[in-house]
Amino acid sequence: MIEKILIANRGEIAVRIMRTCREMGIRSVAVYSEADRKAMHVRYADEAYCVGPAPSLDSYLNIDNILKAAQEANADAIHPGYGFLSENALFAQKAAEAGLIFIGPSPEAISLMGDKLTARQLMTDSGVPVVPGSKESMADETMLLKTATEIGFPVMIKASAGGGGKGMRLVKQESELIPAYRRARSESLAAFGDDTVYIEKYLESPHHIEFQILADQHGNTIHLFERECSVQRRHQKVIEETPSPFITPELRKKMGQQAIAAAKTVNYTGAGTIEFLMDKYHNFYFLEMNTRLQVEHPITERVTGKDLVKAQINIANGLELEFKQEELVQKGHAIECRIYAEDHKNNFAPSPGLVKNITEPMGLGLRTDGYVYEGYEIPIYYDPLISKLIVWAPSRQEAIARMKRALYEYKITGIKTSIPFLAKIMDSAAFQQGRYDTHFIEDNLEFLLEEDATHQTYEDIALFIAYLDYTDKLNKYTPEKTADTKSQSNWKTFGHRNNLFHL
Ligand code: ADP
Repeated sequence: MIEKILIANRGEIAVRIMRTCREMGIRSVAVYSEADRKAMHVRYADEAYCVGPAPSLDSYLNIDNILKAAQEANADAIHPGYGFLSENALFAQKAAEAGLIFIGPSPEAISLMGDKLTARQLMTDSGVPVVPGSKESMADETMLLKTATEIGFPVMIKASAGGGGKGMRLVKQESELIPAYRRARSESLAAFGDDTVYIEKYLESPHHIEFQILADQHGNTIHLFERECSVQRRHQKVIEETPSPFITPELRKKMGQQAIAAAKTVNYTGAGTIEFLMDKYHNFYFLEMNTRLQVEHPITERVTGKDLVKAQINIANGLELEFKQEELVQKGHAIECRIYAEDHKNNFAPSPGLVKNITEPMGLGLRTDGYVYEGYEIPIYYDPLISKLIVWAPSRQEAIARMKRALYEYKITGIKTSIPFLAKIMDSAAFQQGRYDTHFIEDNLEFLLEEDATHQTYEDIALFIAYLDYTDKLNKYTPEKTADTKSQSNWKTFGHRNNLFHL
């Protein structure tokens, strides 16, 4: 049985995995880069090892250094988290060769599903519908033009090794095809060391709906229902919820069966996710499989009551799944907001830096998975995700109200965060009515970027207090002077709207 796990990751996911380790009586080992000496995961772990300089390539992606740390710590197993080496078959292979249990699927399953073209072929062979498109890689421009014309514009050019939206290009018409193809290939080469690309039909107004899978080493494969991930920006998820407001119980059952079938084609073991795209007529197609834990896994945990990391560790220990498909139910509704250190008013630019104050929301139905603390300096080198706010409530409507309340309570100063932007999404009528697809953010951008007086930062409130003090002095000493009347009336409105005059 596993007694010590090295977590080959950082940030909120490293801390989240360590929490389950602690509950299971398993010791956790952190690895960190030179930029992460003071990071939360280093503080939380039972032991910690530096694996290299700040850039990921030299540290969190440095297989040899991570395996050396595991050996030094005498760990039994490695949990890769998400991102970094989590879908790297070579890492899984080398870990096994070093006598370590890799908490994830086999290297074979990782490489089969990691190559999107191969995965599409495997799915087609086993009768799982895939997004209509090419069967082979687009080797040259003649072949590309011929295939795109057959499929019909608009089309999506995609990197076979792709992930994180890299190497993906929408092509609306023929004139854009060749330049987009060249860009996709060079982007893919730079990101993945592979320039294989293929084409898919571009689905208009689709939904991204994915299914959580768990499979043990005894042939039991189950799904833990769906996550609706259509609130996206530049093809990246921003908010996820479950159940999906878009699908019926019959459809859920059908998709769940297909998801299980998809996982079985590669003899999958562990936790994984089958992603589907669904068009407005409810036709659904396999998009890809992620052979790891997802960022948005907590909403599944919330509605099913299952700890997915615990399930992963149990599976890696060779145990049978503790629960059967029929025993699982989706109870209530869960929503996750991804909190990024970013400035949405400045084209969503990352906003790393020193976190001055942080007040996390509390109370009924909340979970925050984060890693930043007061006085922590968010490094520039890594993903700007700083925390995930997850709410649960008996109904979708109540979950939205709870999320609004929680976002209102969430205050972080020193850096810019996506909290006000997320609050605006909660305020949007389309989101509230569950009428949205993957274009929701771009379609509603103007509304979403508007100022929201109910989501002010401490700095704003401090300025307001300064204003009160200022007007007080003005009245006392120079009552005839009105100074800046415009800003005075703005602050007055702000004070009334936020009920601040009682302060
Ligand atoms: P990646 O692995 O790079 O994240 P995915 O294949 O998972 O890329 O797609 C990410 C997102 O891009 C999807 O959730 C969807 O919004 C959009 N997308 C991908 N393929 C298509 C398509 N064929 N038609 C329309 N949208 C698509």
